[in-house]
Amino acid sequence: MSKNNVQPIFILPEGTQRSEGKNAQKNNIIAAKAVANAIRTTLGPRGMDKMIVDKLGDIIITNDGVTILEEMAVEHPTAKMIVEIAKTQESEVGDGTTTAVIIAGELLSNAEKLLDQKIHPTILAKGYKLAKEKSIEILNNISKPISLKDESLLHKIAITAMTGKGAESSKEKLATLIIQSVKQISSEGIFKKDNILLKTSTSGSIEESELIKGVIIDREKLHPNMPDNLVNVKIALINSPIEIKGPDANSNLSINSPEQLKAFLNQEEDLIKQMVNKIKSTGANLVVCQKGIDELAQFFLAKEGILAFRRTPKSELEAIANATGGKIVNDIKELRKEDLGFAGKVYRQNLNSKDYFYIEECKDPKTITLMLKGSTNHVVDEIKRAVEDAIGDIHVALKTSKVIAGAGAVEVELSKELKKYAESLSGRVQLAVLAFAEALEIIPRTLAENAGLDPLDIMTKLKAKHETGKLWHGINVFKGNVEDSWKLGIIEPWKVKAQAIISASEVAEMILRIDDVIVSSKQEPKQGYGMDF
Ligand code: ADP
Ligand code: MG
Repeated sequence: MSKNNVQPIFILPEGTQRSEGKNAQKNNIIAAKAVANAIRTTLGPRGMDKMIVDKLGDIIITNDGVTILEEMAVEHPTAKMIVEIAKTQESEVGDGTTTAVIIAGELLSNAEKLLDQKIHPTILAKGYKLAKEKSIEILNNISKPISLKDESLLHKIAITAMTGKGAESSKEKLATLIIQSVKQISSEGIFKKDNILLKTSTSGSIEESELIKGVIIDREKLHPNMPDNLVNVKIALINSPIEIKGPDANSNLSINSPEQLKAFLNQEEDLIKQMVNKIKSTGANLVVCQKGIDELAQFFLAKEGILAFRRTPKSELEAIANATGGKIVNDIKELRKEDLGFAGKVYRQNLNSKDYFYIEECKDPKTITLMLKGSTNHVVDEIKRAVEDAIGDIHVALKTSKVIAGAGAVEVELSKELKKYAESLSGRVQLAVLAFAEALEIIPRTLAENAGLDPLDIMTKLKAKHETGKLWHGINVFKGNVEDSWKLGIIEPWKVKAQAIISASEVAEMILRIDDVIVSSKQEPKQGYGMDF
């Protein structure tokens, strides 16, 4: 058969988009850089906010990397991988999302220059892997220890996490509330962040935010005759219904006379009465039930002056148990005095026409509530995100017991040490490690740019300080100079930096190894994949 008769073979369905080799790499790098660029201006205390309007017209104003990326609905496959870094960072450590994405963008940008010099992507990926491992080793060596006792350090972590966010103006007040909460709920040196509950309300200013030594139930009471205020509150926590189960479909109930009906109803009433009497006999004046409470039971409870809530989510019931020292019981018949929780007072608060019941003044509560206030929903939502970051950072710092100083200090130090390490390597891998070292400098450079400072000038001063052994010198973005970040109290968890470097590097390595992008026609990619590059 002659050559000319060979039919082309199609292995991919019609409509499939494919880019290969250099093209695929270039496109991927462009996409990754675009994501990084989109959030660069938000980094650090002087970073700007973004306003995002979703399809429904809802507005979010935020400075939080992961929130911005989630809301942006990125479509390009590689860009999505970068967004994934932010999500991993958020779920693993809760902070450092912008940092991780910016580093990934810069790692790829620097890789692009080396690719242009004909350095093979696998060499680059290998160099990045080595540099990543070395970075973690250096980070370990320079980190400092922290424990629950180091209150002032914990306070600084909270302040650093909230600097530049919507919570900025009240960060001292919020940090104080957070540290009080951390101290209150920690026992035997262990801090469980889920035991700090966050509630928000637009009924006041940020400064009116408060720590409630207990739990807030944001529901109305069951029956109008139930009390609004209680003192010396004894709380029954029940996870079975306070109602009589009606006859089920299979049982035969034949009622043939009005007497029989009356007897049946009386019997039902008696059973409910017995349940309520049992609760009353233990001395309980508040009932929190995970299941239903029927109308008859509500009526009897109200008559006895007992406040009650039904269909309480399990997590809330557990939180109340943890705050009040009560025990959740399965069967009302088995409810004992010893099972009751205790609160000094319970009272109704009406905030913006919504009822809240505060279960307060618990004795040594192991779950507490921070009621965060702000003038509008946008404000409280952003404050909540900042407080979550602060609590998350404290949690992570305590979990690994290691902290470092920020404001660019740690990245400059790592970069300097990595450059030294590169000298010990030979060949092209050395160039990859150097590219990695330089990529880390994007963080101080961006912090400087966002603060309106001259990045070149700041970087020169920073590097000079680090050369003379000033390990923690970073950028004082408010004064526009280079100072000791540790002394300035810009303290961050070791893990936030370590995770940011690990995930940024891993995704860069992965993207560098791709030389073929095949997009099946089903996805119908729009031109530009929905992003402006
Ligand atoms: P991320 O999403 O990465 O946490 P942020 O906007 O929270 O982004 O910025 C974090 C960066 O800001 C870190 O590099 C941190 O060291 C730096 N930073 C925090 N507080 C200060 C400060 N007071 N001065 C200078 N830099 C700071
Ligand atoms: Mg942050």
